[in-house]
Amino acid sequence: METKRSHYYLIVDLEATCCNNGTIPRHEMEIIEIGAVMLNRATWEIDSEFQQFIQPVRHPQLTAFCTELTSIQQQDVDQASRFPEVISNFKEWIYSSFPHYVFCSWGNYDKKQFIQDCAFHNVPYPFGSEHINIKEEFSEYLGVSKRYGMALALNELGIELKGTHHRGIDDARNIAAIYRQMKTQKPS
Ligand code: AMP
Ligand code: MG
Repeated sequence: METKRSHYYLIVDLEATCCNNGTIPRHEMEIIEIGAVMLNRATWEIDSEFQQFIQPVRHPQLTAFCTELTSIQQQDVDQASRFPEVISNFKEWIYSSFPHYVFCSWGNYDKKQFIQDCAFHNVPYPFGSEHINIKEEFSEYLGVSKRYGMALALNELGIELKGTHHRGIDDARNIAAIYRQMKTQKPS
């Protein structure tokens, strides 16, 4: 349930270790980038952004497939902090300036991945129970049952995909552009 106190939509997009040959099962995937934007629901501007890479510990060596998909390089994650430190920075960014937010993402993947990494590292899940699945809302907005990928949704709305697809921070900005349009314009 969304509350009146949520002045911001916190739009998060995660990238994670992955492969195309079964060597990294779903339950061993780990976050390698948190990209997030604070979308002001009064002005529809992005008031602040957060981006950090994370060093994975279960499969520390990125696969060629993962680097190809995300454009994230081995040195990006080698130089990064591990999950507990980054999640602490992330919480600091959120709660120092934006105590009234609601966690949003495209689909349920990002929420599940956070829950998995928090459990693995034994750190508390940083959000409340509230979560907006923008992918689901997008289908409702269009009045269809079909589920869209982010790139297809941008295309459907006539919004240009900016930056690099499958980079957390760029995906978060693009999802914010979709949500802004959904909330301020009727579907055509
Ligand atoms: P996305 O937000 O669409 O960039 O995807 C988030 C994460 O899901 C990626 O960093 C990958 O770990 C995983 N992922 C996305 N697409 C694929 C794919 N086609 N094959 C394997 N993993 C993927
Ligand atoms: Mg992404």
